[in-house]
Amino acid sequence: MSPASRLFAAISIVVAGAPLMSAQCSGYDSVPLWIWNPLFYQSSLSGTQITDLAASVSGWNNAQTALTISTNPYDDIDVSVDNSITDLGDTYIYPMAPYTGCANQYDGCGVCRNSNVIAYVDIKVSTTLIATEAAAYTSWTADQRLTSVLSHELGHALNLKDLGGSPTNCLQTSIMYLGNGAYTCNFIVAQSYCDGGDVNAAYSDAYFEDWDLDDPDFCGYCNQGAC
Ligand SMILES: [Zn+2]
Repeated sequence: MSPASRLFAAISIVVAGAPLMSAQCSGYDSVPLWIWNPLFYQSSLSGTQITDLAASVSGWNNAQTALTISTNPYDDIDVSVDNSITDLGDTYIYPMAPYTGCANQYDGCGVCRNSNVIAYVDIKVSTTLIATEAAAYTSWTADQRLTSVLSHELGHALNLKDLGGSPTNCLQTSIMYLGNGAYTCNFIVAQSYCDGGDVNAAYSDAYFEDWDLDDPDFCGYCNQGAC
């Protein structure tokens, strides 16, 4: 085999492999992303909703290795019930610019806190709509449906995209399906192949700041000049 034909063969393998992954997985938006690890969540949920949220968080921690989600002491991801929304769940990502006083300021570790950096995320769920839908799809309880919605929205909180269509391979697919796609494969939490793979890819080059005030390498605040 000549060098030229070896090169051609290598390129063919790469090109043939790429569409298979994108057809099954949602992928992610390259910005904005988190610069902290672990991420912390707080919620105003009550009763079994708290257990449902913990299960969805565990699902993400098990599916990927890029970052850890834990509860308290910070409110990076805030989860609440809002029965005025028209979706089962909504996720709102607020980047450093323009939503914080740190907008376009360097911090002590040289990171520019701009629109590429997530400051905080709000997740809202409609428990009214979730209960109505769970009753229509009797294979799942309202708690299971809430867990799946929270899992989907947490995917958005990590900046994963939605996934259209219907699952064709339940071993290689995603909690990020729109609508009722998750029912087909009985997905309640994040899946390793797509969801974990997408988060690992999104944060493969991430620089995570230490956010422990007691540590000597604490990055300080965003008072190091404009950027
Ligand atoms: Zn979505």
